[in-house]
Amino acid sequence: MIEIKKILLPVDFSKRSALATTFAVSLAQEYKAKLHVLHVYDRLPQYDYLAKEYLKDRKKKLEEALAKVVPDESKATIEVEEIIAEGKPVHHTIVEKAKELGDDVIVIATHGRTGLAHVFLGSVAEHVIRHAACPVLVVRNSEKSS
Ligand code: ADP
Repeated sequence: MIEIKKILLPVDFSKRSALATTFAVSLAQEYKAKLHVLHVYDRLPQYDYLAKEYLKDRKKKLEEALAKVVPDESKATIEVEEIIAEGKPVHHTIVEKAKELGDDVIVIATHGRTGLAHVFLGSVAEHVIRHAACPVLVVRNSEKSS
C-alpha cells in the first residue's frame, strides 16, 4: 500500500488549475492527507524600488486569493495549509518546497495563466514533472479561458 500523508497543490489562480484543486481535495479526503496549497511569486528586482507598503498589500491580496482556492466546505473535511513563497524560477521553488514539506505527491494542472492550448504542457508543469523527487499527478483541463 502506498501512503499519501501530504499533498502539494501549486496554484496560479487560473481557472485551468481548478480541476487540479478538485482532484487534490478528493485525494486528501480519501487518504486523510494534509493539503499544502502553494503559490509562488517572483519578486522581480526591478520592483525593489516600490514602497514596502505596496509589496505588503500585494502579499495580503495573494493571501486572500489563496484562502479562497479550497472551498470552506472542503476545508471542514481536510487539513489545509496555505503557503506563499517567493522564488525564482517558479518551478524550482515548487520542487524545493515539496521536498522541504515532505510531500508525497504533487497535483498540478497541465496549463495555467498563459494557457497556450497548442502547447502540450505549460513550462512550470513540465519542469515540475522533470525535477520533482515525488510522483506528480498531472491534470488536464479543457477549460478555454484562464
Ligand atoms: P501555462 O504556460 O499554461 O501558464 P504553467 O506550466 O505555467 O502553464 O502552469 C501549469 C500549472 O502550474 C498551473 O495550473 C499551476 O498549477 C502551476 N503554477 C504555475 N505558476 C505557478 C505559481 N506561480 N505558483 C504555483 N503554481 C504555479
